[in-house]
Amino acid sequence: MDPELIADIRSAVAQLCANFDGAYWQRLDRDMVYPTEFVTALTEAGWLSVLIPEELGGGGLPLSAAAAVLEEIQRSGCNGGACHAQMYTMGTILRHGSAEQKQRYLPAIARGELRMQAFGVTEPTSGSNTGALRTRAVLDGDHYVVNGQKIWTSRAEHSDLMVLLARTTPLTDGMKHTDGLSVLLVDMRAAVGNGLTIRPIRTMMNHATTEVFFDDLRVPAETLIGDEGRGFRYILSGMNAERILIAAECVGDAKWFIDKAVAYAGQRSVFGRPIAEHQGVQFPIARAYANMRAAELMVNEALHRYESGGDCGAEANMAKMLAADASFEAANVCIQTHGGFGFAEEYDIERKFRETRLYQVAPISTNLILSYLGEHVLGMPRSY
Ligand SMILES: Cc1cc2nc3c(=O)[nH]c(=O)nc-3n(C[C@H](O)[C@H](O)[C@H](O)COP(=O)(O)OP(=O)(O)OC[C@H]3O[C@@H](n4cnc5c(N)ncnc54)[C@H](O)[C@@H]3O)c2cc1C
Repeated sequence: MDPELIADIRSAVAQLCANFDGAYWQRLDRDMVYPTEFVTALTEAGWLSVLIPEELGGGGLPLSAAAAVLEEIQRSGCNGGACHAQMYTMGTILRHGSAEQKQRYLPAIARGELRMQAFGVTEPTSGSNTGALRTRAVLDGDHYVVNGQKIWTSRAEHSDLMVLLARTTPLTDGMKHTDGLSVLLVDMRAAVGNGLTIRPIRTMMNHATTEVFFDDLRVPAETLIGDEGRGFRYILSGMNAERILIAAECVGDAKWFIDKAVAYAGQRSVFGRPIAEHQGVQFPIARAYANMRAAELMVNEALHRYESGGDCGAEANMAKMLAADASFEAANVCIQTHGGFGFAEEYDIERKFRETRLYQVAPISTNLILSYLGEHVLGMPRSY
């Protein structure tokens, strides 16, 4: 994408984010409140719908635009975790939904009338082994009847729609466990209290995550995305985009931490000189910078391959892992540079430290990425 356009996007997003300062995020974090005003501002400015085609009311921009938006949000000290899912879940409808479904949902999402922030894949018993999920959707006339449970369904209380992965064909001997899963688009406004229960889970950071229970929930069969039984493939096809976008967020976090560390090291004086003059302070920041830049290059490589239609599975996974490592390293260095002040709420560092820690685990944990590389890139035996 044109570098000038990317620079314009970054500058406009940074301007918007400047209205949401540390005090705003600290207040929400303290009480675990969802950043509604922030998400509304991003929606109204059109930043959350850059990937929706222009003819459906969106920005019609490529993935690198979405990556620039999310990176800039994190770099500004804000938290895109409140709304990033909309960017990658809409790809499921865009690539696999019918023309009617696209018309029904995407323009309303672009206008901000419909929120599609919830993504129900993970279950308590199956965890990383998605093929072992147990939530069942059984066709009964013109509805699916859904029973089961999801966990870590983030933003469910702040979304109208949930992209749900459920088993529609029971597993039988010899069947591939990733077959027989289907994607349904659940309208949660109608469902809550009618077979859908959402319970918030308090976590170490303010992430609005929940567990969700389905108890004979009736979901119209017309909300099935694509073909029944092929849902895992549809979800998988969106995962590269998801990993690249999360990696871009981590690069943004790393830049924020590095900027903070450099600024503080330059102005904090003990023993009669700025701590930045000590190599013991300077080198860890320089190393974090080098690792952030390496991760950024991998994000760019993954974006390039994604946008040119090539296979980007390895690069998307490596970008996610390297960027999550870089952001966590930078977070740790930033706390160390600040000494005791790194732990004080008013500096925002401890909050961002908690927020960026998530990306070692979600949306895919580092071990699973290493397994992917070992098996699919290096041709070693499958380890599980
Ligand atoms: C705050 C938060 C928000 C989330 N949001 C969402 C969401 O919106 N939607 C959604 O569907 N999910 C969401 N998730 C779930 C997230 O994707 C999972 O937590 C993640 O995929 C790991 O699954 P798990 O927690 O079940 O861990 P497990 O699969 O139980 O793994 C536990 C540990 O064992 C390791 N491990 C497991 N299997 C292997 C293996 N074969 N080889 C080596 N190591 C292995 C893992 O790396 C991990 O360190 C969220 C999670 C959190 C914490």
